[in-house]
Amino acid sequence: MSGRIPDSIDPHDWARSGRQVAGTLPLATLERLCAALQDTAGEVRIALAGQVVPGKRLVLTGSASCDVTVRCQRCLEPFTLTLEAPIRLGVISHEGALAKLPDGYEPLLCPAGQELAMAQLIEDELLLVLPDYPHHADGTCGTTAVPAQQAGERRPFAALGSLRKSDPPGGHD
Ligand SMILES: [Zn+2]
Repeated sequence: MSGRIPDSIDPHDWARSGRQVAGTLPLATLERLCAALQDTAGEVRIALAGQVVPGKRLVLTGSASCDVTVRCQRCLEPFTLTLEAPIRLGVISHEGALAKLPDGYEPLLCPAGQELAMAQLIEDELLLVLPDYPHHADGTCGTTAVPAQQAGERRPFAALGSLRKSDPPGGHD
């Protein structure tokens, strides 16, 4: 088990040689993902393994997970969400090979001999599991240390809040 996540990988080579790695990357290196977050501190936990599956198909499997801070779209308070992205990628070198993807795998298009940035690969997977409309679990808005109204001078989301007042705090059953 090597612990250092490489900056880039050759997916074909990884799959054929059965390479694997487990480790972490700083969340802040994933810029597109961070653009959607309230806080960029933290680490992404990564496990990735190459493999040749029946039919001589090349695949990468593993997982990427991290705790991220997002703003609840119901109560507008930040909260922590755990993103867990399963990785099941079939490595293909051209679109013509799409039909050969093993069942249950997403295509990873990469010409043979070319390398892909690891951060980008992982980021794509995490963006897929990041909700478009993150919110606290039903009925739990306002139960998690919501700071007592800090006599707000700056409330950039006040307008947004007035658009969505359908959920009375702790109201319905
Ligand atoms: Zn909420």
